[in-house]
Amino acid sequence: MSDEIYLDSNATNPLEPAILEAMLPFFTHEIGNASSQSHSHGARAKQAVEAARRQIAALVDASAGDVVFTSGATEANNLAILGLAASLPQGNVKGKRPHIITSAIEHKSVLDPALRLQNQGFDVELLSPNPGGWVEADTLANALREETLLVSLMHVNNETGVIQPIDAYADILADHPAYLHVDACQGFGRELTMPRLQRIDLMSINAHKIFGPRGIGALITRPRRYDYPPITPLFFGGSQERGLRPGTPPVPLIVGFGEAARMALADHAPRHDAMIAMGKLAREAFIPLNPTIHGDPERVLPHVLNLSFPGVSAQSLFLVLKGIAAFSNGAACSSGATTDSHVLRAMGIDPDTCRGAVRFSWSHLTPSPPWQLMSAKIKDLT
Ligand code: PLP
Repeated sequence: MSDEIYLDSNATNPLEPAILEAMLPFFTHEIGNASSQSHSHGARAKQAVEAARRQIAALVDASAGDVVFTSGATEANNLAILGLAASLPQGNVKGKRPHIITSAIEHKSVLDPALRLQNQGFDVELLSPNPGGWVEADTLANALREETLLVSLMHVNNETGVIQPIDAYADILADHPAYLHVDACQGFGRELTMPRLQRIDLMSINAHKIFGPRGIGALITRPRRYDYPPITPLFFGGSQERGLRPGTPPVPLIVGFGEAARMALADHAPRHDAMIAMGKLAREAFIPLNPTIHGDPERVLPHVLNLSFPGVSAQSLFLVLKGIAAFSNGAACSSGATTDSHVLRAMGIDPDTCRGAVRFSWSHLTPSPPWQLMSAKIKDLT
């Protein structure tokens, strides 16, 4: 194993040991299929799945039945956007093309389904962020139209860590019938307030951002009065997950997701404090190098630092910090590509600065990073 400190928490995280412990029996002796109700193995599996549903729902003020398990947030985003669009009245609304609002800083798993809908005739509008990396409520208010059917805006940006004002969007949409979908996978379990907003109809989350296993996520579906948002499934062939996501439920992963949600709530305060302390040391080490920090500092989650050093490319940072720290140039969790970040470009950052931007992100499982050593190595490049 390398000694490189893992500073790519926004891409994914190690499994928390207690979560692995909770999952192990369901890989070994608890072998039931949660859909098999003719024997006790199946009944115990179902019980475990329902307990996890309750643990996840508790974190977002939803009912257990509102949780639809998926393979992750990518699938949840696709299910929300494509599934809803397929269920809504097709054709023009009062003589106008149906309108969908999203933003230029969304993850590709929102942008690409939206683009697909545009190709099918929907009028898709991408809202621009301000230079601080958040979409202002007025921008949404100005874009909203009578024929808007869906607003899909993220909770926390994956590249900058900037929290978006979902509460203000919810206020604007209070008397508008458009469905509100929120890709909350970067903030779920970290910023606890916004995901609880009852105006959010659909919300995508996953386990691996909160130290659970990869390959499991959920779409939270909130009923309005008594009716769930109308969604056409992407797959067919079973009645699991209210028919929205058929297939044998991955019980060990679901149990891990539930435990991850439980721990995120129980350990929120100490984790948050640890993130702040680590971030303070990072800033102290880097500020003397005069970096440009991307993302409104008033709104950035405390475990993320996205920055560019004057005249230094991301590639040279990767070279000079090789073996010391593992980090990303921003968009690793969407593409693994080394192209400019669409998020930073949308924020109006000039191409050179954009190309130099790197993202450090850490967690309570990160050993103390050698920030001062990293700073000294970077100084040699400037
Ligand atoms: N949305 C955002 C904002 C993300 O950061 C990611 C990254 O993983 C995803 C969606 C995709 O999630 P998953 O890996 O669960 O498919």
